[in-house]
Amino acid sequence: MSATLPAPTFALPRRRSVVMRWALWILLAVLVVALLATLVWLAGRYEASQAQSQVERDAADALGDLRSGLTRNVQTLQALHSGYTTPGAWSEEARRLLRDHREWVRLEWRDAALGTIAAVDTPYRSPVFARLGRANSQADVQQACQNSRRTNGPSYARSYFVPLVDGLGLEVMELCVAHVTAGQLTGYVVATYALSEMLVGMIGPQLTRSQEVSFTEADGTRLAMHGAARRGSRVFMAQQLIDLPGNTMVLRMDSWRTAPDLFPNFLTALVTGMSIALVSVLWLLAHDMRRRLRAELDLAEALAFRKAMEDSLVTGLRARDLQGRTTYVNPAFCQMVGFNAAELLGEAHPPPYWPPEFAEEYGKRQAIRLAGNVPPREGFESMFMRKDGTRFPVLIIEAPLINAQGVQSGWMSAVLDISEQRRVEELSRASQERLQATARLATVGEMASLLSHELNQPLAAISSYATGSINLLQDGPHALADIEQAMKRISEQAERAGRVIKSVHDFVRRRDKERELVAPQALVEAILPLVNLQARKLGVRVDTRTPPGLPEVLCDRTMVEQVLLNLARNAMQAMDAAHAEDPWLVLEVKLAASAQLSREAKAWVEFVVADCGPGIPEEVKQQLFTPFFTTKAEGMGLGLSLCRTVVEQHGGFLGFEPNHPQGTIFRFTLPSGPAPAPP
Ligand code: ADP
Repeated sequence: MSATLPAPTFALPRRRSVVMRWALWILLAVLVVALLATLVWLAGRYEASQAQSQVERDAADALGDLRSGLTRNVQTLQALHSGYTTPGAWSEEARRLLRDHREWVRLEWRDAALGTIAAVDTPYRSPVFARLGRANSQADVQQACQNSRRTNGPSYARSYFVPLVDGLGLEVMELCVAHVTAGQLTGYVVATYALSEMLVGMIGPQLTRSQEVSFTEADGTRLAMHGAARRGSRVFMAQQLIDLPGNTMVLRMDSWRTAPDLFPNFLTALVTGMSIALVSVLWLLAHDMRRRLRAELDLAEALAFRKAMEDSLVTGLRARDLQGRTTYVNPAFCQMVGFNAAELLGEAHPPPYWPPEFAEEYGKRQAIRLAGNVPPREGFESMFMRKDGTRFPVLIIEAPLINAQGVQSGWMSAVLDISEQRRVEELSRASQERLQATARLATVGEMASLLSHELNQPLAAISSYATGSINLLQDGPHALADIEQAMKRISEQAERAGRVIKSVHDFVRRRDKERELVAPQALVEAILPLVNLQARKLGVRVDTRTPPGLPEVLCDRTMVEQVLLNLARNAMQAMDAAHAEDPWLVLEVKLAASAQLSREAKAWVEFVVADCGPGIPEEVKQQLFTPFFTTKAEGMGLGLSLCRTVVEQHGGFLGFEPNHPQGTIFRFTLPSGPAPAPP
């Protein structure tokens, strides 16, 4: 990877940071849960203390009510005693009072010696002392009245239990109010309080449905109680001491919480709700974090994958921004040019791998590219320089570099070192050439016998002319004209022999491979002497058809001549092998049919070699162009495969078809050069 991308060697530290992050998250979660639990607990505590102080306030109020009620009652009793002096009137008034005061169960008027003058029972229940009699409580009454007499104020006795006729019972308490007129004790009023009715009448109206009040003794023994229609599991309790003259009791108040669930009040519910919201947010955050972590992991993996891919590439990659600065190179590119990434990235212009002699040209090319011209998709060839100064050919394929926003941010180039490809091409071209030279030499070897046969004629003619001339020399000077004639013939024959030899020489000689414009007729004429040589030996009639006005063809002359010669030679050999009668060979050149039809700018010229031989059997057809395939004892089997290679190198097509009534037609096409000159 280049210096622009960080190498992903962070596997270990990353694992540590992941562990660290998880630890932090867990710590945070624990802290939040602890905080919330504390809040909920505190809220609960606060709520409990509120409830406790409420019940204490209520108990104090209840005590206040009780006290003032008792004081008012004492005043009522004093008024009764002083206002109604006859037992009849007293009883009348006492009855009325008992109707109003349910807490009293009995009122008595007693004289100074505690003898009962009048007594009235409450109308609301059957007489309390009916069952046991009043005498049982005499001691309590006596004690209360003595106290009252002594203190000159109301006095209470200790409460006691009175069983009733209906099987139930009642806790009652005696109140005695001594009446003193002008320092003289005139009597007592004794009121018997029912404790439970006291609670109902004097405190009850202020109680809520979940409160309970009771009188207890100092040791907790419950004497009477009232209230609590609704009970709950949480109970708050407050106690108040009732210090009455002559008696001391405890007023106890219990208050039940009616909704003893997890959210006992609004504050706790609010805190709990907020806690749930907080935990939810925490959970969402953790979820998001996990997603991010996963994305990070995926990204790191993709990065590692990309790095592995780039490292394994043999293609050089190079990115440039829109200012032409190199922003990225992969290892293959660095290896190709021999510079490291640091030397290639950044400002360097011209890049160090541009050969100085081409720097100007490359600069222009880059300017065109940066102006926004899209390069050809198949790429273009260029020459780069290694760090050691050696030049090497490259194929560059460029494509626009589009960033995440879909905007072009530069160019990405794939660079291929094609020096090896070039070397292989050169090697194959050289071996192809050697093969062709060998094939030509083989042709020549084959022709050596033809040559000797062909040369025999002029040599024999020269020899006989020479012999004739020697004889004429003996005839003396008048034979000079004949001798001259004979010498001319000798010279002619020598020239003919020379031409035969030259035609072979010309063919064998290696010429430039450059493509050139050649008239098709010239190609046919060049091989004609050699074709004729063989034709004469085999008795074949050669017919050439080369109409005038054909366009010149662009070709490698030597090679195309060899193709023509190969085809002609194959044809003659086939006819000879089949002992054809009156064998003939046609060498024809014409404009290709497709060119005439399509009126293309580039016309094609077709060469035809036709014979009347045996034709090509089906099984031979399959392998006709396979190198080294031959049906002849002395054949090499290279001819047709080379012919096709040569024609295809020129962009043409080589094919064959049966001739009618018999024989074979080979035809191949070559591209024409510029339009033909008018005939
Ligand atoms: P070679 O001439 O050395 O055998 P070629 O590749 O030129 O090699 O030819 C391959 C084979 O194709 C020949 O051996 C022959 O059997 C067949 N052949 C080529 N031209 C003709 C033709 N005009 N008529 C019949 N057979 C042919």
